[in-house]
Amino acid sequence: MKDIYDVVIIGGGPSGMTAGLYACRARMKALLLEKMVCGGQVLMTYTIENFPGFPDGIKGPELAEWMLKQAERFGLEVKTAEAKNIILKKAEREPFVVELADGDKIEAASLIISTGARWNYLNIPGEKELTGRGVSYCATCDGPLFRDKDVIVIGGGDTALEDALFLTRFANKVTVVHRRDRLRATKILQERMLSNKKVELCLNAVATEIMGKDKCEGLKIKDVKTDKERELKASGVFIFIGIVPNSDLVRPIVKTDEKGYIISDDDMRASVDGIFACGDVRKKSLRQIVTAVGEGATAAFSAQHYIERLKGTTYPPEARLGGK
Ligand code: NAP
Repeated sequence: MKDIYDVVIIGGGPSGMTAGLYACRARMKALLLEKMVCGGQVLMTYTIENFPGFPDGIKGPELAEWMLKQAERFGLEVKTAEAKNIILKKAEREPFVVELADGDKIEAASLIISTGARWNYLNIPGEKELTGRGVSYCATCDGPLFRDKDVIVIGGGDTALEDALFLTRFANKVTVVHRRDRLRATKILQERMLSNKKVELCLNAVATEIMGKDKCEGLKIKDVKTDKERELKASGVFIFIGIVPNSDLVRPIVKTDEKGYIISDDDMRASVDGIFACGDVRKKSLRQIVTAVGEGATAAFSAQHYIERLKGTTYPPEARLGGK
């Protein structure tokens, strides 16, 4: 008899792990596929201050570890594997097929897509060449390398400001370069940044080139109002200019918006029956861990109802699709 999962969750960030927790507690046979380490972007966050229940904050990797432990305690199966392709059902009672990078195939009655998002690139001269040689996209990972050095942070969102503040622990000076005259980040982060003597703010400035041959030596910027160019010397340039969804896998099969975010309804249903989306890969207005976990729970709940409908009964764990 074929082993068909009730739900396969693709992507092991907070939304995927929470979907796994709820799916298992609903006694669904659930598998979580994660190509690297479970945790997603949370792994790159030093301290999380806005996830309820932790008045003093919690380290990102620690929160991720606890989320995974909790889901596994209720039976979530986790496989380190990359999903490469999804074959849609030929009939409602047939399974989806997920093809993995190693050639393996997994069958599932329903799918939850929680593949998250990745950082954006500036695409300016020097960026690619000097990545890992002073150009970085992760303050938590690379910040300690810049002790007593001058660094630049590009971007005006929550990530840029949070990471600029984190970098002040090590760096001598942190210059935040932002393309507009107003920051996008949450007010509390703006206040903290403005009161930190190590941070300098450079507004209305676009980065045009990262300087240096074998290592980063600074950044060329252009004032958007005067068109004047100038150079800022720095040993490190951290780029935090937003995210792009990891939706390449599903773009051919479900509806996405013009940026590639999956369009889904309030119950996390994507445009194909039996496929659900949650977390940063989904089109929505607030991208936070707290919204991601809520969506993960809802996606699992909706998947459970979808399977009950397929079987035409309330959910009995022993009556798996596929005949078990
Ligand atoms: P974001 O909110 O989209 O901000 C991106 C920033 O980069 C904006 O200031 C944007 O400028 C700038 N930018 C975009 N493209 C640029 C370009 N080509 N050149 C120069 N600047 C550019 O992205 P994020 O800060 O990574 O945050 C992503 C999501 O995660 C957000 O929803 C955020 O709230 C959330 N997040 C939350 C927390 C937290 O709650 N503690 C922490 C991190 C992230 P404009 O402002 O001019 O568009």
